[in-house]
Amino acid sequence: MTVTDIQSEGRGYPSCAAVDLAAIKHNLSVLRAAAPGALQLATVKANAYGHGLVPVAVAALEGGADWLGVAQLAEAFALRRGLDEAGVPRADAPLLAWISTSSSDFAAAIEADIDLSVSWTWVLADICAAARALGRPARVHVKIDTGMSRAGSTLADLPALASALRMAADDGLVDVVGAWSHMSRADDPSEEGQASTASHVRIFEEGLAILAEAGITPRIRHLSATSGILWHPEAHYDMVRAGIGLYGLSPDPSVASSRELGLIPALELRAPLTSVKVVEAGTPASYGGTWVAPTRRWIGLVPLGYGDGILRAVSNRARVVVHSDAGPLNAPLVGRVCMDQFMVDLGPAQGSPDAPSARSGEPPACPGDIATLFGSGAGGEALADEWAEAASTINYEIVTHLGTHIPRVYGERPVPTQERNPHE
Ligand SMILES: *Cc1c(COP(=O)(O)O)cnc(C)c1O
Repeated sequence: MTVTDIQSEGRGYPSCAAVDLAAIKHNLSVLRAAAPGALQLATVKANAYGHGLVPVAVAALEGGADWLGVAQLAEAFALRRGLDEAGVPRADAPLLAWISTSSSDFAAAIEADIDLSVSWTWVLADICAAARALGRPARVHVKIDTGMSRAGSTLADLPALASALRMAADDGLVDVVGAWSHMSRADDPSEEGQASTASHVRIFEEGLAILAEAGITPRIRHLSATSGILWHPEAHYDMVRAGIGLYGLSPDPSVASSRELGLIPALELRAPLTSVKVVEAGTPASYGGTWVAPTRRWIGLVPLGYGDGILRAVSNRARVVVHSDAGPLNAPLVGRVCMDQFMVDLGPAQGSPDAPSARSGEPPACPGDIATLFGSGAGGEALADEWAEAASTINYEIVTHLGTHIPRVYGERPVPTQERNPHE
């Protein structure tokens, strides 16, 4: 099955997000070549950045991922269940979940073989209580705050956490598998960005030294997400955690594009046109009349809107590619994005001064023709990057925003030769 052949699977929504699992595997190989000696954790939080949790996780494992990582424990439970059902042995799919709260079910996490992140002694106490009750040690990764002020123990708090970890390990309640952190500016090539990353690394080293003094020497040290993998080899350590790059998108397209990085965007969002009609010059489109037909125009209607995760901020600013019998047609999005639909300008109609005479009134596209919003770019369509720029946001938000109700359809498209990883 190829991605191009796949039609929406008739779950009632006409749109579909086609996910190319061969692209996921290809991207993983590119990232592995960029961080050769490091274990690869595939970051599949937020429904695998909108691509679909279990199918992406299974593909990543098939592609050689060593670990899986999610943010929420709820996602980790869903993922473990999905992997168990898919027959993936737990030993082949170590899984780290990094958000813990006082209401987290740590006992269930230990039973599901989910590694937990520990930043604070109170979390450690709760984890130890669960481990003691189960008679089984919890696997933990101690998190150090290296300058993001998000989760993680500050260096000031770390000695107390380290000695509590040491005691818990001596009591057989925890196995300290990892020590880790996350960087805030690894995609920033400016002098300040470089200094920030150097500081993260320095603080991480200081944290590791504090742990070592307490007799804690974790087997897996990990610091880098995609931007660290690509641009900071000094921060690779024992494992790296790829997210956006796994999905074929650049952590910062202004630094390097997907194409320049050899990555293939894995998700293509498309929907069939539900209407094609002519409006007269001067006719407004959508709420507020923010766009007015400059001449007699063909208008197409796309059944996706902000209720599906199409950011309203792209109103009048993005484009789709319509695949008509005559070939691909670039059609700008006109007027405001509605809750479930938006309009596109398919070009001048007969009687308009700028209408191509050859067209003799034929519509440039038909209802049912597929409009591609974004994808790999192979068919001339935009990348998520272009939609992100239109909405003044980042590609991460474009893909993770897609409603879970939009059918995800999986296939494997052959990797084009020019995208083959030269390191393979
Ligand atoms: C999201 C996330 C990642 C992956 O980041 P990318 O920039 O998408 O590669 C890695 N580690 C942590 C802790 C994260 O929250």
